[in-house]
Amino acid sequence: ALFNLTGKVALMTGASSGIGRHLAKTLAAAGATVIAAARRVDKLEELVTEIEAMGGQAYAVALDVSNAESVRQCFDQIETLVGAADIVVSNAGTTVAKPLLDQTEEDWDQVIDTNLKGVWLVDTEAARRMIKHGKGGSIINVASILGERVAGAVIAYTTSKAGVVQATKAMALELARHKIRVNALLPGYVATDLNSDFLESEAGKKLMSRIPGRRFCQMSDLEGPLMLLASDASLAMTGTSLAVDWGHL
Ligand code: NDP
Repeated sequence: ALFNLTGKVALMTGASSGIGRHLAKTLAAAGATVIAAARRVDKLEELVTEIEAMGGQAYAVALDVSNAESVRQCFDQIETLVGAADIVVSNAGTTVAKPLLDQTEEDWDQVIDTNLKGVWLVDTEAARRMIKHGKGGSIINVASILGERVAGAVIAYTTSKAGVVQATKAMALELARHKIRVNALLPGYVATDLNSDFLESEAGKKLMSRIPGRRFCQMSDLEGPLMLLASDASLAMTGTSLAVDWGHL
């Protein structure tokens, strides 16, 4: 019963693909009503159908995390559907991989506006609605191990994720009195369709040699840590950064 989310509402941003899509199903399987949000609503509708087929409950809501008006509209829609979310996973993210001196102002703005401003917009609006509805909650920001270390050719990304780690602590500080917890999940390299070519290349093998566990993460490795932070099992945890990366050197 420690990880049971029955009766809870969980918002997952960036639920249309990858990690967000996978973890939305994890939350639904634990009993939460899932609000699946992203820009590609057709992809969200597919996920909703899948969750319903599992016997779960989910709704698709359009959201651009980098746009304050879209964020407010998303939370208005959640309010109409189910009230306020108890669990918010700020997972939406993007990257531009280009050498430092090739990155443009547009690249920088796109990554920072999505990964950093987006987390701030979503988390603070979530907190406002939780307070309005007189309930506490758990906010989980999906940062990255690149929030604590760096890699080449992703300056905006690694900077945005370091910002997310710091923003998590700042929000945890001010929201604790409202019984709202804010924690960060820092995944290591997660094998997805998008990066499997790179992870299997020579450069990927070199990267692997720096991971004590000698393996990249699977999506399923993130399920337990997410459930810990989402559920009351972590009631006394806030402002923490939880790395899920098979160790690092
Ligand atoms: P994907 O590209 O598969 O998924 C990204 C998701 O974010 C999509 O659902 C996309 O949906 C959504 N998204 C992007 N921009 C916006 C926006 N402006 N508004 C709303 N949603 C948006 O990547 P991953 O699943 O790999 O990444 C998920 C998170 O995990 C990211 O924050 C990423 O940085 C982090 N991460 C990933 C790692 C990895 O190795 N894969 C490692 C560590 C962290 P749509 O386009 O429909 O809006």
